Amino acid sequence: MTPHNLQTIVDDIAAEMAQHTLRGKVADYIPPLACVSPDHFGITIIDRKGDVFSAGDADKAFSIQSISKVFALTMALGSVGDSLWARVGREPSGSGFNSIVQLEWEKGIPRNPFINAGAIVVADVLLAGYQPKEVIGEFLRFLHMVTGDNTITIDKAVAQSEQDTGFGNFALANYMRAFKNIHNPVEKALGIYFHICALSMNCQQLAMAGRYLMCGGRRGPNTQDTIISRQRTRRILALMMMCGHYDGSGEFAYRVGLPGKSGVGGGILAIVPGIASIAVWSPGLNTTGNSKLGTIALEHLVKRTGWSVFRADK
Ligand code: GLU
Repeated sequence: MTPHNLQTIVDDIAAEMAQHTLRGKVADYIPPLACVSPDHFGITIIDRKGDVFSAGDADKAFSIQSISKVFALTMALGSVGDSLWARVGREPSGSGFNSIVQLEWEKGIPRNPFINAGAIVVADVLLAGYQPKEVIGEFLRFLHMVTGDNTITIDKAVAQSEQDTGFGNFALANYMRAFKNIHNPVEKALGIYFHICALSMNCQQLAMAGRYLMCGGRRGPNTQDTIISRQRTRRILALMMMCGHYDGSGEFAYRVGLPGKSGVGGGILAIVPGIASIAVWSPGLNTTGNSKLGTIALEHLVKRTGWSVFRADK
């Protein structure tokens, strides 16, 4: 795949997405997200040489929301290792991102780190021995390090709004605390969770952040700096494939065939192991809460490049 081809492909996809009239529904349960126009579409691909191909609104910042759960998981595995798995599972939930129903049956152990309950446990793990401010600072530093971009910030208004309206997340955290699976005060764990979700990035920054997942844990294609081990990278990608799109994960694997993580801000980070890190953004969501046009765009991209991990070309 030459750079020229990839630029043509992203340009074609952006032009095609601009024509769509059915663009999904923008998330409105977090008030600042409701103000974002569904007309946006952006895409960035970074390939294994480090070349960058962007089109549409790839430089416009959006709320990455649940995509940040991938970065929080990476940090938590780095600090407590596999002991994390005593407190959070590795199975698809088959339920909505904010579901509470399984927690009663499964004694406060969330199904995976990418549903809200699981990510709140991850936030609680990161908090051990630290103050929320320190953890949030460390999280931002991690993002600055993996992207090489110190301008990335947390949108404080979004974090505050999640705090003010996140009754479901408070319920999840309190319920897990009742099962002793939240060890710190609920408000502190949630404070971290809300700030992590409120990370503001554009497609170019997000695709940069995903490079370590493309490169087997190395920070980027042109460096030996290691963020996480090759084995952990493979396992995070497996979780993204199985659980990265909530109860739409099977459909995403069927249509796109790449490990990916979506957020209710309309972003998706998708990884082609060893080949590319891809970020797409379009704020309108489908019925499972995943970006409608973002999914269609990735489906088109994979058709044109043959990048599905399930390709049978040998
Ligand atoms: N901050 C959002 C919430 O807790 C994240 C949801 C998402 O992106 O899926 O509801």
